[in-house]
Amino acid sequence: MAVFPDITPDLKSAMPELRGRLAANQEMAPLTWFRVGGPAQVLFTPADEDDLAYFLSKLPQDIPVYPVGVGSNLIVRDRGVAGVVVRLSPRGFGEAVAQGDTVRAGTAALDKRVAEVAASANIAGLEFYFGIPGSIGGALRMNAGANGGETKDVLVEATGIARNGEKRTFSNADMKFVYRNSGVEEGVIFTSALFRGRIADPASVRARMNEVQQHRETAQPIREKTGGSTFKNPPGHSAWQLIDAAGLRGFRVGGAQVSEMHCNFLINTGSASGHDIETLGETVRAKVKENCGVELQWEIKRIGVLTA
Ligand SMILES: Cc1cc2nc3c(=O)[nH]c(=O)nc-3n(C[C@H](O)[C@H](O)[C@H](O)COP(=O)(O)OP(=O)(O)OC[C@H]3O[C@@H](n4cnc5c(N)ncnc54)[C@H](O)[C@@H]3O)c2cc1C
Repeated sequence: MAVFPDITPDLKSAMPELRGRLAANQEMAPLTWFRVGGPAQVLFTPADEDDLAYFLSKLPQDIPVYPVGVGSNLIVRDRGVAGVVVRLSPRGFGEAVAQGDTVRAGTAALDKRVAEVAASANIAGLEFYFGIPGSIGGALRMNAGANGGETKDVLVEATGIARNGEKRTFSNADMKFVYRNSGVEEGVIFTSALFRGRIADPASVRARMNEVQQHRETAQPIREKTGGSTFKNPPGHSAWQLIDAAGLRGFRVGGAQVSEMHCNFLINTGSASGHDIETLGETVRAKVKENCGVELQWEIKRIGVLTA
């Protein structure tokens, strides 16, 4: 296993008022759906928003910072992540509360929980979150969406901490949402979100959530070690159809495989490395390009040191 120099003693002495947890050479694989990848040089779990702001304001600017949610859209490379990975815990950032037709949620809250809280308050419009296995932080960065809804349709505003420790608020327009991405600079770590739906008949909200759940169960390999949709749908195409047409259903590299059930999902069959999964993805891109001329773009985020 790769081991990075332990910089946590230096960080701790530069940040005497830090209340969150700093851990050196922390394994990332258990923190991702794919269950692959090397360690984070430092894994930081802030106590709350003020603690995160303090940490970022004191952290030397040349140390890279990578926020992660629950790792459902993430390949961590085998050589690990140099710098600091920030993971918000539900204890400091997991609250989700409905008021009127709005839900305010910390970014460690799971999308599923936000859908539940909305449904319990008879708020329609957030049911699509019931089928997405990520956290609200990941939903903000990815403009997560499914079953006809996406984050940009329901977000009023988000708060976050910039790389220099400054607290910021982003309106829906400031988020610069595009298909499966936000244009907010990468250094920002989102801490909370305010959503607005509409008050509706409780039975219809529940029925919609059940539909969303059923669609998942039948159409996606949701119990596998996977990262969800690997590639964005190119304009006018479905990525899975292009992959299928290139003859890649079930195609393998080492322990990584193109799902038999849904061709745009890659799966760790048990023994895959991060390198296997990324190589499989790049092989799929090359073969699809060769077959139909379309260049697939990664939807899944990849972090960590590239294999030499
Ligand atoms: C079985 C399965 C089905 C899926 N179905 C869908 C689907 O239908 N629709 C869909 O959109 N996605 C889907 N996904 C992908 C994934 O769930 C979403 O992209 C989700 O929003 C990622 O959230 P996360 O917490 O897991 O983020 P991570 O995977 O941990 O991170 C993803 C990105 O978000 C950033 N990020 C995370 N938290 C923060 C934060 N607090 N501040 C700033 N940036 C942050 C990370 O830096 C990274 O760039 C699926 C995944 C799986 C495994």
